[in-house]
Amino acid sequence: MALRLGCDLDGVLADMELALIREAERLFGAQVRNERPGPSSLPASMADLVPEELTDNAPLRHELQLNMRQRRKLWQHVRAIDNFWESLDEVEPGVVSRLASLAEDRRWEIVFLTRRPQTSGATAQMQSQRWLEAKGFRLPSVYVVTASRGLIAAALTLDIVIDDTPENCVDVASDSKARTIAVFRMQSPPPVVLQRMGIHLVRSTHECLDLLLDVDASLERQPGAIQRVMRTLGLKQPTT
Ligand SMILES: [Mg+2]
Repeated sequence: MALRLGCDLDGVLADMELALIREAERLFGAQVRNERPGPSSLPASMADLVPEELTDNAPLRHELQLNMRQRRKLWQHVRAIDNFWESLDEVEPGVVSRLASLAEDRRWEIVFLTRRPQTSGATAQMQSQRWLEAKGFRLPSVYVVTASRGLIAAALTLDIVIDDTPENCVDVASDSKARTIAVFRMQSPPPVVLQRMGIHLVRSTHECLDLLLDVDASLERQPGAIQRVMRTLGLKQPTT
């Protein structure tokens, strides 16, 4: 039984955060970047960076000191950049081509899920497809999400969804039978809700791929036993 995966882009494969920091520094100067937030700093959030209608609360590795006016200006600026989404680096070098070769070898079916806003140039979907191709994933399926990821995971009967935003992970875990892997890169303790909902945590995307290989190897030994395999690996057993 081949795995059917949903995979988020920004924060899992693509480094949107670094690209936004780069653009913020270009607009407002290097002082907006705080590389080492003090221990008393609140955890940074994507809510600090994205327009309200696109709020995505993935934890950030850095902090940007931007006020509301600067955030709006940053997004106006980003939306005007031709094919901004194609300019991103990988969050972990080589991770896209590793995912591509594993998917081909293990016959995984993958849909990439993203909430990227449109920018100048090609559609966010096409920019994302080109970016994935350029990093080594041929013929990627990209879906630009406008509704609940949980409902999408349910409709597409996905086995596993990989995301770095706690809210998205909870959404998938509540609204679908898909198991959820959260890529949580921060040193701080992860939100308790993730563990409470049985969401599996990894510290990097490469670690996530190692876990998927374990799942895949177990499935090969016990075909059709995906629920048992997930339970063994500590992934959520669906209750619905
Ligand atoms: Mg993300």
